[in-house]
Amino acid sequence: MDYGLKDKVALITGAGRGIGKQIALSLADEGCNIALIDVDENTVKATGAEVHAKGVKTFSLKADVSSSAEVEKVVDEVHKNFGRLDILVNNAGITRDNLIMRMKNEEWDKVLSINLKGTFNFTRAVSRYMLKQRSGKIVNIASVIGIGGNIGQANYAASKAGVIALTKSAAKEFASRNINVNAIAPGFIQTAMTEVLNDEIKQKMQERIPLQRLGTVEDIADAVLFLSSDKSNYITGQVLVIDGGMVM
Ligand code: NAP
Repeated sequence: MDYGLKDKVALITGAGRGIGKQIALSLADEGCNIALIDVDENTVKATGAEVHAKGVKTFSLKADVSSSAEVEKVVDEVHKNFGRLDILVNNAGITRDNLIMRMKNEEWDKVLSINLKGTFNFTRAVSRYMLKQRSGKIVNIASVIGIGGNIGQANYAASKAGVIALTKSAAKEFASRNINVNAIAPGFIQTAMTEVLNDEIKQKMQERIPLQRLGTVEDIADAVLFLSSDKSNYITGQVLVIDGGMVM
């Protein structure tokens, strides 16, 4: 399908590996120019080279999404480099699982500051350009855990529920300027984040999935293409659950 994304400019956070990397590769396949952001300089540069090999312009930058100063700086640099900003994918996210009674302050703070504040930092910084441009697409990667909660993931669940509420608020605030803001709530996707879970938990998860398989990074990237394109122009403030039917 032609999504009409050729020569658009997309900024993706957490693009060094996992879901963010695939989103960068899939958008590049559509001819989109890509700014890749990650806290890990080595992976972001390596992924940037892979994306560049697809024949699009790339800009790979190291930044911590939880630092508003760093975020303001990289967004200004990206805009200066490409001259515009059409798509923002807030994908960077971490887990620090623990039961509530054992959860350390640092575990709570770190997850909230990367997953939720990081999404806010980029939304705010990018909105200044998109509002002036009077167009834009923002896709936030939330999680089904932000909808249903999970034992041992109170910090992660709260951060992703926050991302969903932020998505809806931004969608209302930016709608009059032709900026769509939506969230994707992945279920169980095969990446380094889920690789750490033991086989028993993975097996139990799979048994709860009607489509009888774990998700792939492509399953998420395909939806990002749709939500970044003009084919979703009448969709805003929505949460698209991509989980093989696990949560209905
Ligand atoms: P991943 O493989 O761990 O990749 C996350 C990427 O984000 C890594 O490159 C990581 O860098 C980067 N990152 C971490 N902290 C950062 C920071 N402070 N600033 C900038 N970049 C940072 O995770 P994933 O599975 O692809 O997950 C991507 C998103 O999908 C996350 O928001 C996650 O919550 C969400 N999600 C995933 C699943 C799943 O099943 N995998 C399910 C639901 C939602 P490092 O390499 O340095 O860690």
